[in-house]
Amino acid sequence: MHGNESTTTKALFDFFKFITSNKQVTKDLLSKHTFYVLPMLNPDGAALYTRENANGVDLNRDAQALSQRESKVLRSIFDALQPDLCLNMHDQRSIFGIKGPKPATLSFLAPSADILKTITPAREVAMGLIVKMKNYIKAHHHNQIGRFDDSYNQNCVGDSFTSSGVPTILFEAGHFKDDYSREQSRSFVFYALIALFDLDAASQNNSVDYKEYFNIPENQKIYKDVVLYNVRVDGEDTLQTISFQYKEIIHDQNIVFELYFDAVEVDKDVFGHQYFDLQGGKVLVNSHQNIVIDKKISTIFDINRNLMLI
Ligand SMILES: [Zn+2]
Repeated sequence: MHGNESTTTKALFDFFKFITSNKQVTKDLLSKHTFYVLPMLNPDGAALYTRENANGVDLNRDAQALSQRESKVLRSIFDALQPDLCLNMHDQRSIFGIKGPKPATLSFLAPSADILKTITPAREVAMGLIVKMKNYIKAHHHNQIGRFDDSYNQNCVGDSFTSSGVPTILFEAGHFKDDYSREQSRSFVFYALIALFDLDAASQNNSVDYKEYFNIPENQKIYKDVVLYNVRVDGEDTLQTISFQYKEIIHDQNIVFELYFDAVEVDKDVFGHQYFDLQGGKVLVNSHQNIVIDKKISTIFDINRNLMLI
């Protein structure tokens, strides 16, 4: 759906490989369930590596207007299939974390069906399934599961499908320490799917209480990619905290991570995936005179945690 969010797509192909592996458990699965997959709803966005489609429209805000061909295709398939369960697969930015603090490596949402966030039968099913997946991943010592904001937005596909009475689960693959290629969250999504469809004995016959969904910590915007503490910016006396964010850019058919200046005086509750205490050290951002937010930084850090000259 979002062209620059491919982690869950990779995990889906891992899952397809597993369920076609001719094991008894996967044969049983395929005798009970039929899977329909749109592996790439937004091919133009994928080619351009943008969230939006070629017309600049966010397909996940087009569920009511159905102004785009892709949205019409998705809705027509939904109406024709009348599925029992929908999975809506995404990546979330590295800014999201949970209390701890820890990066939210995988987040879930059982989207609301109305503005009152009523727990409709469809939503209750989605919540219970999310609890099941969360328990399974947690049992494998990964406690980095978050819960996405459930404010109702009828323009979002998940909210629209849930209000049509079909349980829908939003997956948001996120950041894991030092893993910008997201292989860790890819494995989280894979194991979540294993648990969802009872493909491991450890996830079978475990009754879950859907209300546990609300005990999953809520996602918070508490991370920046790089934070420098106790910095003297351009020679000023006061010590400040400054932050930087990576942008993923397509360069020669490859994704490269470029660092951009994000903010001066970062909130005290914000943490860095990489952080350094410069102990009063002086930082020059772009020039001796100007600090330009959203300006590309070429010589601070590289993605392998190497501290470079500023
Ligand atoms: Zn997305």
